[in-house]
Amino acid sequence: MSNKIDHHYDVIIIGGGMVGASLACALSKQKNKRIAVVEAVPFKSDSQPSFDDRVIALSYGSRRIFEAMDLWAELEPLIQPIESIHVSDRGHLGATRLHHSEENVEALGYVAENRVIGQLMMSRLQQLDHVELICPATIDALQQNTQSVTVTITHNGDKTLLIAPLLVAADGAMSRARELAGLQTQQQDYGQTAVITNVETEYAHNNVAYERFTDSGPLAFLPMTKKRCSVVWTIDKKDTQQIMSLSDDAFIEKLQQRFGFRLGYILKAGVRHAYPLAYVETEQLVKGRVAIIGNAAHALHPVSGQGYNLALRDVAEMAELIAGADDPGHELLLAEYHVRRRKDMQRVYRLTDTLVKVFSNNFSPLAHARAAGLILMDLTPSLRHIMARQSMGLLGRMSKMMRRISL
Ligand SMILES: Cc1cc2nc3c(=O)[nH]c(=O)nc-3n(C[C@H](O)[C@H](O)[C@H](O)COP(=O)(O)OP(=O)(O)OC[C@H]3O[C@@H](n4cnc5c(N)ncnc54)[C@H](O)[C@@H]3O)c2cc1C
Repeated sequence: MSNKIDHHYDVIIIGGGMVGASLACALSKQKNKRIAVVEAVPFKSDSQPSFDDRVIALSYGSRRIFEAMDLWAELEPLIQPIESIHVSDRGHLGATRLHHSEENVEALGYVAENRVIGQLMMSRLQQLDHVELICPATIDALQQNTQSVTVTITHNGDKTLLIAPLLVAADGAMSRARELAGLQTQQQDYGQTAVITNVETEYAHNNVAYERFTDSGPLAFLPMTKKRCSVVWTIDKKDTQQIMSLSDDAFIEKLQQRFGFRLGYILKAGVRHAYPLAYVETEQLVKGRVAIIGNAAHALHPVSGQGYNLALRDVAEMAELIAGADDPGHELLLAEYHVRRRKDMQRVYRLTDTLVKVFSNNFSPLAHARAAGLILMDLTPSLRHIMARQSMGLLGRMSKMMRRISL
């Protein structure tokens, strides 16, 4: 994309996917900070792995961050609000419902297509003189000293050096920048695959998101624009090939068995994509002048739709600290980032892990306890309130951007 590469920056972001691009957008008014975004795959390419056919259930808290980034007004007409969330357990009694009016908000969340978010962010970044999009380019080597980080990148077949006081690794779960910085991860294969597709149903979704737990894993129907629903169906990894190769009619029949008839008949299903699910967690978020963010720091199971929402809260804190700093890679600033983010991350990791383990298990006493839990939750407003605040991303510390303040 860029032909003129200025080698000195204030911040180098490796990875211009959902999270790297969000960080650059969060810094869009920091004109005195020179920012490089190094991205491997061209933005409009069909193989762009971040701005692909998936949808993101944006929490209400993420909406506030989009408002602070001045992107909300453009995004809002292109997305669908979630007014209620219906949680149920296939084959067992018990369900719970969360409703926006109980929380005094106009929606509990919003469903946006990754591709739409990508187009919006890229067109914003291309208008900014202080942000350099270096694409397609990949990171090859990284060295740091007490003052700066130097990276070697390959861009248009040439090797180039970039230097900055701070490098942010946002290059996804298999992050090369993280590896080059020497940060260790814990990884665990969930043994599951998320199959995603869009469907049309007999009845309108009425802005309800359905989360249905089944013995093979969770199944979500998320309300989309044009009366469609986005389906995220978690299946056992060993069944992936079989489900992916079914004819559309056979696939719809299987999906209908799992989901039931809350939306009537499933009339049509679009193209399917499969994502193998693994948990990646990096205990240390910072090493010297390198910080990691997004999937590079934590790749989560999509069960509770928290991965990007959590990362956006990382982005908000990181951008706030960078905006106020002369030296954005100073050790005290990065230590502060770690302190501010750790608690929220731990809470979301625990929640996600518990949901995956408890709701993907058909052990009978556990299934009864689970059903009782859903009924109890449905009958207890205070429990529903805590669950709603968590899914809206409104528990814990409020960064400036979470308070809708632009940086
Ligand atoms: C099926 C599914 C459904 C999901 N649903 C939700 C949801 O509803 N809500 C939610 O909050 N989250 C959801 N998530 C999680 C969300 O998709 C991730 O949190 C988000 O995509 C992470 O973005 P990222 O930019 O950190 O990483 P990625 O999306 O992996 O992007 C990394 C970027 O870095 C680039 N890159 C990679 N290597 C290099 C390199 N060496 N040099 C330069 N660039 C490089 C890549 O090309 C890519 O553009 C879901 C995930 C899945 C799998």
